[in-house]
Amino acid sequence: MMDRRQLLMGAGGLPLAASAASAQTTGQAAGKALGQPLPNGVDLPEPPKKRLGWAVVGLGNYAINQVIPGFLQADESRLTAFVSGNPAKAKDLAERYGVSTIYSYDDFDKISADKDIHCVYIVLPVGLHAEYTIRALKAGKHVLCEKPMASTVEECEAMIAAARAANRQLGVAYRVHFEPLNIEVKRRCEKGELGALRYVTGDAGFNADPKYPPMKWRLEKPLAGGGSMYDIGVYALNGALMLIDQTPDTVSAVYAYPRDDPRFATVEGGVNWRMTFPSGVSAQGSSSYCYAGGSRLKVFGAEASISMDPASDYYDNRANLHRGWDPGTPVRAAPPFTQFAAQVDGFSQAARSNTPHRTPGEMGLRDIRLIQAMYRSADQGGAVVKV
Ligand code: NAD
Repeated sequence: MMDRRQLLMGAGGLPLAASAASAQTTGQAAGKALGQPLPNGVDLPEPPKKRLGWAVVGLGNYAINQVIPGFLQADESRLTAFVSGNPAKAKDLAERYGVSTIYSYDDFDKISADKDIHCVYIVLPVGLHAEYTIRALKAGKHVLCEKPMASTVEECEAMIAAARAANRQLGVAYRVHFEPLNIEVKRRCEKGELGALRYVTGDAGFNADPKYPPMKWRLEKPLAGGGSMYDIGVYALNGALMLIDQTPDTVSAVYAYPRDDPRFATVEGGVNWRMTFPSGVSAQGSSSYCYAGGSRLKVFGAEASISMDPASDYYDNRANLHRGWDPGTPVRAAPPFTQFAAQVDGFSQAARSNTPHRTPGEMGLRDIRLIQAMYRSADQGGAVVKV
């Protein structure tokens, strides 16, 4: 039995009050901080790979809000330069993202001597895509060019020829090919979960506000290349082709917009289109600068269908699998915003290994060829055009 003295003294011979105060300051009461083994089921992330340096050309709405922030999540790509005609904006952004080099459009060709630039991302109006892509390729850089690839088939062909001559990769930034939900829907189609594919329908559009600055060039043919089908309709067209994964044999289209609307003096404001395929699959859709914003796809197989709405959003895509008339069960995948980092990392991998990007220049050319054929059809009131 402890006597009164032992009770008042701690184990180390210190009075108990002093011992408690000491434990509080040294942390002994809670034990010592010690390393622990990795818990079962927890994997460490892959270490960052050697990152390729990227220059972003054109610091507009999409570059600032989606493309550049996307690099923060990338682990094979890093921002090393900006190309802009606005030095103050470029400097401000460069400071925020730790980018040390800024080029103007006038000294753009000097990128050839910049060893920190491996890839160039063209985020300019469509009418400038071909020129800046070809100049970047001639400077020895790999190029990822925003959609739509260019204004005409001839421009797309010249871009592809420049990439071949320079032995560099050329990709078109069809980001949904890197978006987890789109990838999951494509996987289910390929796996046969819907049965034989029969029909895809897709709509993509928004109501163009001519007072919104990025809309100005979109409504002027020389910089826009074309109308709604170029800028927004291409999502449904390319999305349908991603799921069907076949080459169409005919297209047809009609214009669908109020002809007296002053917004559409030089570009079309809406197109309803169709494609047929030798296998019997068909696709149809709409593109508009006149209806409320939306982007959806529905793919019907013989056994089931999947509806995606929205299908090509930056932040929040949804898909449901339907076995028949039922309201459907959700198809789940990782968050959409990962598509931006996945796209540039995918292109960095293509550049490093010198193998074609998942969405190569040839895919961009295919889509411009189809869109131009749709316009030819619409000019003839919807005649069927062989492609
Ligand atoms: P924007 O008008 O906001 O940006 C265009 C940029 O190009 C600006 O920095 C502007 O200063 C620069 N520019 C250089 N020369 C110009 C000129 N003569 N006229 C106008 N601008 C000029 O447009 P945005 O919406 O950022 O579109 C840029 C590109 O990105 C386009 O190719 C567009 O199709 C593409 N985009 C892609 C997506 C997508 O989801 N993949 C979304 C939006 C835009």
